[in-house]
Amino acid sequence: MSIITNIQSIRSHIPSHVRLVCVSKFNPNDSILEAYKIGERIFGESKVQELCGKYEALPKDIFWHYIGHLQSNKIKFIVPFVSLIHGVDSYKLLEEINKQAEKAGKRVKCLLQVHIAIEETKFGFSPDELLETLTYEKWFLLKNIQICGLMGMATFTSNKIQIRSEFKSLKMLFDKVKSMYFVDNELFSELSMGMSDDYQIAIEEGSTLVRVGSSIFGSRNYN
Ligand SMILES: *Cc1c(COP(=O)(O)O)cnc(C)c1O
Repeated sequence: MSIITNIQSIRSHIPSHVRLVCVSKFNPNDSILEAYKIGERIFGESKVQELCGKYEALPKDIFWHYIGHLQSNKIKFIVPFVSLIHGVDSYKLLEEINKQAEKAGKRVKCLLQVHIAIEETKFGFSPDELLETLTYEKWFLLKNIQICGLMGMATFTSNKIQIRSEFKSLKMLFDKVKSMYFVDNELFSELSMGMSDDYQIAIEEGSTLVRVGSSIFGSRNYN
């Protein structure tokens, strides 16, 4: 299958209110350009250095989403051009993004990552930590960031019931957070969930942004 036919097939499963993030990490610029040529504009990367190189080399109307784990000392490299940071998992990181965004004279859109999987290895706030942070921290004073919603990753399993229930719980948390802290804020509207193997379930459960990599570009070569 080619990148073009893969994208066409995925598009046919995505309703118009859901946006596709083409996860291009570990894939070459030529592959990104193939997707670009048939109209894709949102690409997701998970390494700062790789993202910066691709930003330099590729068309400037691409919307770059950072989907990896972000280290504070690298925020400054992506802040000038990134359009959404998916994986913010601490208040400290939010403060640091705010600081760098202020220096760059812009406002950076962020999603708060929630740990919904069984595995210990995945990053993110626990649901309780998230509510505590939003209750006790002065995030609303950080004028150079915009919290646009939540992001999560389901457990790596073939158990579809498990995956669905994790997405359901993230959607319920999203609705709760929206009603408690962002009720008058229409910018808090994104729920980033769903990858190659589970994006259709994620859409059924309320996803607005699906992050699809290997189903578009094939399996990644990590060397
Ligand atoms: C790599 C990655 C994806 C894409 O995974 P695929 O299974 O290849 O679709 C999505 N989200 C995050 C956070 C990732 O790191």
